[in-house]
Amino acid sequence: MKAPRKERKSIFDESMEAFYRAADLIRLHPRVRLELEEPDFEHIFYITIETRDRLVPLSPDEEAHFKDLPASSVKAGEALEPLANGQFVLHRRALLKADITVREGVLRIPKRGLFRIEKGGPKKFKAYRIQYNQVRGPYKGGVRYHKDVSLDLFKALAADMTWKTAIADIPFGGAKGGVRIDPQAYSKEEIEHVTLRFIYKLKNLIGPYVDIPAPDVNTNSEIMAIMMRQYTDGARMPHAMRGVVTGKDVRIGGSEGRNKATGQGTVYCLEEWARWRGVNLQGARVLVQGFGNVGSASAEILHGMGARIVAVQDAHGTIHDERGIDIPALLAHCFANRENLRRSVAGFPGAKALPPGDFWFLDADIAIPAALGGEITAEVADRMRVKVVAEAANGPTTPDGDEILRARKIDLIPDIICNAGGVTVSYYEWLQNLRMEHWTEAEVNRRLEGAIKSNYAIIRDVALDTTKRTESHDSRPFAIGRQTDMRTAAMVLALKRIEAHYLLEGFSQ
Ligand code: NAD
Repeated sequence: MKAPRKERKSIFDESMEAFYRAADLIRLHPRVRLELEEPDFEHIFYITIETRDRLVPLSPDEEAHFKDLPASSVKAGEALEPLANGQFVLHRRALLKADITVREGVLRIPKRGLFRIEKGGPKKFKAYRIQYNQVRGPYKGGVRYHKDVSLDLFKALAADMTWKTAIADIPFGGAKGGVRIDPQAYSKEEIEHVTLRFIYKLKNLIGPYVDIPAPDVNTNSEIMAIMMRQYTDGARMPHAMRGVVTGKDVRIGGSEGRNKATGQGTVYCLEEWARWRGVNLQGARVLVQGFGNVGSASAEILHGMGARIVAVQDAHGTIHDERGIDIPALLAHCFANRENLRRSVAGFPGAKALPPGDFWFLDADIAIPAALGGEITAEVADRMRVKVVAEAANGPTTPDGDEILRARKIDLIPDIICNAGGVTVSYYEWLQNLRMEHWTEAEVNRRLEGAIKSNYAIIRDVALDTTKRTESHDSRPFAIGRQTDMRTAAMVLALKRIEAHYLLEGFSQ
């Protein structure tokens, strides 16, 4: 007889488990519970763009048929734009002064091989913006471009932003969104067009006092600049609207310290954890998964403090060196090497390649998941050999994984405080935009350190049931009268801060 199929919970349902645990613990007001159980708005829409012609590599069994095809002489350079998926965008100027032989739509490019010309044309993408809750301030959250995004995922991430902004104690609510697209398959210009259409459709739904997007996976300060321009284009006072997005380049209203803020916040949490546990970060061995904005900044800062980054994994490779990887050299390999189109750690000459399946099971002190969600499953958690998991990514640990980490007494720094540095400095950026100010990096980090460490201390006090008032924090209003785990304690802090707004302001009927 077939075993009954186990119903898989949605990502959103899984991510809400901590919410329900904490809501029960603090007996959250029933109406507040209803308000927070689902998003305020779920915007789902479609955007279309025009794509360019492509050169798509031929499969090995097709190649034989074209073995006598003469090579075409094409002036490459900008005319053939390489994509991270091995294809080329064919710009028409490639045909100027070219000497081309095409047979059955196939041509040979010297030193690159055989390609089929694929005609571009209009293409449609599904897009999302989930505005979860705004009781504490404007909706706030990142924009993700990825092929695996969904309503379910964005609901979970938008809810997370609601808890995170409350934990960071900044006057924002929560949101998240993005586009279902594989950015590696599109040119810079096509991604720009996707971004322009995305904001065109969202124009009436966002704004500096309404909803403030920011970078997330596969979006960055360049994309934020395009969003800002599209939003403010034609406005009478565009300069007063710079706060419509955060994570901008510092030269156009971004904040000093924003690029590294999420990684910096993770490190501030780790410093507090290490002080409490009596661990010396100098010489501590660290695993970092994801070497994008957050992973690379965490690794760079920890390396600068004398920690040893013994392994790094990204979507394309895993590298390992027990003596500690030379992080400045790895940064140069990923971000200053124009040949490295995928900005991957793969092929880094200063470390050994490792089978990806071995990564989580290396012996180390600290594991920093800084890539995507759902990575630390029960199977992974069961075999990890670290003292602490610092969740720099959003939702990297599944509820089953969580339970096993707890049972194995592996400490956890939950995502909603561990990666709150990014949104905290986004708030500083927004404030600077509204005030037309520019703060130094030292000023930004001084404020960030105070904010992250004091809120981290409140969460730890709640978890250990040792609430108190010190010079830098007061955890007494959040006491629950018993011990709990760090993730639940973080949710308690978030829910008590959010609930206060509903209870003090009341509900309009
Ligand atoms: P990014 O796009 O800059 O980098 C993502 C990294 O993850 C890349 O190195 C990529 O290769 C790697 N990756 C992707 N899939 C992988 C896989 N299956 N296995 C291993 N590695 C994989 O993104 P980011 O901005 O650094 O964001 C990383 C995480 O941090 C996300 O979960 C994001 O939601 C979260 N986060 C980011 C910020 C921020 O300020 N950027 C703030 C808070 C939380």
